[in-house]
Amino acid sequence: MKNIVILGGGFGGVQAALTLEKKLKKLRVKNDYEIILVDKEPHHTFTPLLYEAATTSKNLADYVELKSLVSFPFAELFKDKNIRVVNDVILHIDTAEGLVHLKQSKIRFEYLVVALGAETNYFNMFGLEENALPLKTFMDAIRLRDAIWRRAEEGAERLRVVIGGGGSTGVELASEIKEWTRELQEEVNKSCNIDVMIIEGSKNILPGFDGRVVRKVEKRLKKIGVAIVRDEKVDKVTQKDIILESAEKIAYDILVWAGGVKAVPLTEKMPLKKEKRGRIEIMGGLECIPESPDLKIYGKIYAVGDAACIINPKTNLPVPQVARAAITQGKIAAKNIIEDIKKQNFLSKKIKQYVYKPMNYPYIVPVGGKYAVAKIGLIVISGLLAWIFKGVVELNYFLSIMNPFKALKIWLHGLRVFIQNDRLG
Ligand SMILES: Cc1cc2nc3c(=O)[nH]c(=O)nc-3n(C[C@H](O)[C@H](O)[C@H](O)COP(=O)(O)OP(=O)(O)OC[C@H]3O[C@@H](n4cnc5c(N)ncnc54)[C@H](O)[C@@H]3O)c2cc1C
Repeated sequence: MKNIVILGGGFGGVQAALTLEKKLKKLRVKNDYEIILVDKEPHHTFTPLLYEAATTSKNLADYVELKSLVSFPFAELFKDKNIRVVNDVILHIDTAEGLVHLKQSKIRFEYLVVALGAETNYFNMFGLEENALPLKTFMDAIRLRDAIWRRAEEGAERLRVVIGGGGSTGVELASEIKEWTRELQEEVNKSCNIDVMIIEGSKNILPGFDGRVVRKVEKRLKKIGVAIVRDEKVDKVTQKDIILESAEKIAYDILVWAGGVKAVPLTEKMPLKKEKRGRIEIMGGLECIPESPDLKIYGKIYAVGDAACIINPKTNLPVPQVARAAITQGKIAAKNIIEDIKKQNFLSKKIKQYVYKPMNYPYIVPVGGKYAVAKIGLIVISGLLAWIFKGVVELNYFLSIMNPFKALKIWLHGLRVFIQNDRLG
């Protein structure tokens, strides 16, 4: 049996696994290959809804209910599919030997898809990692929700929440925390004013986004009362203060760090070509490139999603680290593996090469309540319409990874919970 091993069950990994499974079962040699997905978590996390999970009142949804809305067990996603899930931590990838070393076992691979995502980057800033909360996983969202809730419950009259990083995660979280205030006060039956501030190192929030989107988002943030500090970089952090490079001191009660991501150490150590931030450079077919031409790379190795870097020739910039890119890349890597299997087994005379074409993906930035700003092609829409569009995009994703009944059930359940959370206006 030859193993097709997928490392990471995020957007790229899940899509690679599902595409491989669908295509492999049509091949005569299907029983010679096994698809194995390895992840340290037993579930796939839907990150676009983490900000909602972090700001949903306890009386609207308990831990279990919230978890079911943003993280989907692999066992259910891959039920009735020929995909084996190994729930373990990956410690080392031996590209020369074709071995993945896990905490509890080893797996040999014939084909490898590296879909390990990225991790929060604290840029070695003094005190930042120790004092800030990240937002990458469901548990991060719960820790943040509980931290805010606890302070309000303890009777804090004023709570200063500072978010480092004014990218889309920082913006959606800041605005939703601000909108949560009224409901939280009712829930704990105490008066607690939440001041929310975003600190952004660039001249504008949402660096890299269309100017029209930025202006609309800024207007909305102003309306709901989120303060923005622009063009200021964090220098160090103490238990109570953030000290900026300009020497200005900002006091905080809760600090969230959404200021950037970096490659996971595992991929950094692989003897593959990487760009300066440690992401794996990939070719058009998403194959990795050995660091040295003499290097013996066992099998065929592909990288997708946040772990990979490919330049968009139109912009000369790396493709942004977004879910849509990871999904498309996961599918393409899977299709190229299938083509290679056909070639190795003489199943077809015509072997195709699927090429990833970087593009400007549409994006949606929720900005508190039932309000979002979206850019689709050249068009920018905002308000309730963009918020509805966000819901449709989410449903579309759920339909792509689970059966229609399950997808609709989870989506409607999420809608019921989050619609109460997302006040209008
Ligand atoms: C809060 C938040 C909100 C976001 N919102 C959006 C949005 O609205 N739209 C959008 O397009 N993008 C959004 N993103 C970005 C999007 O989540 C990423 O671009 C996407 O997840 C990348 O997919 P991936 O498959 O490369 O990696 P991931 O989805 O990060 O998956 C990586 C997987 O690898 C596993 N893993 C990592 N290390 C190990 C190890 N050592 N052993 C075992 N398993 C391991 C992890 O558990 C994880 O399941 C958001 C990100 C965050 C954090």
